[in-house]
Amino acid sequence: MSETDPSRRDAAASGPSPGPSAKPRATGNAAAGAKAATGAYTPAAVSPNRRGQRRYTIRLWAVRHSRLLEWVYHRFAHAFLLLHPLWKAIGYARAEAPVTAVERRVKGVLFDCRMCGQCILSSTGMSCPMNCPKQLRNGPCGGVRANGNCEVEPDMPCVWVKAWEGSRQMAGGDAILAVQKPVNQSLRETSSWLRVTAAAAMARDDEKDAGGTR
Ligand code: SF4
Repeated sequence: MSETDPSRRDAAASGPSPGPSAKPRATGNAAAGAKAATGAYTPAAVSPNRRGQRRYTIRLWAVRHSRLLEWVYHRFAHAFLLLHPLWKAIGYARAEAPVTAVERRVKGVLFDCRMCGQCILSSTGMSCPMNCPKQLRNGPCGGVRANGNCEVEPDMPCVWVKAWEGSRQMAGGDAILAVQKPVNQSLRETSSWLRVTAAAAMARDDEKDAGGTR
């Protein structure tokens, strides 16, 4: 069985199917099928039960090692910026598909990335906010449980609780206090890496031009 086969895992988690007279029980995502039968909101693929457990474990690892990943990211972004002439020669539009494929794979493994195309991991303690069932980008909702878990996914620690923990270890961790713009849906499935690089290259060129005209 595939690790990410949700229907079979849900069935296994729910146990034998109840008879017609049995009342479905809502017990978080441990019994997602029964929960859905109650009419409760059941967001797809966010909980540790529905996502591969291994992926979820790596996601928590990334938060615990946010300082290291912040350091790695800064070096990586610098290297990507050095490659700006190459991206320009290829054409940013043409480089989009292959770079997006690599970004999806790498960040998918490390952060359970949902390819929103406007990455804010550096501001969220390396905890991807798109894993919040409500996809909140500016902190948790009012429903965080006393144990720090999500109100929608009771088995899952709130991604914003994790974001705060991760941010406290980072050199630039106070970036978590910055207000984020709403998600621009038109940027979904595009490369944040290329977008950030193009913006940084443009800012650098503007700075050079401004210096030359002084
Ligand atoms: S913030 Fe967006 S790009 Fe960054 S890891 Fe999350 S879904 Fe992916």
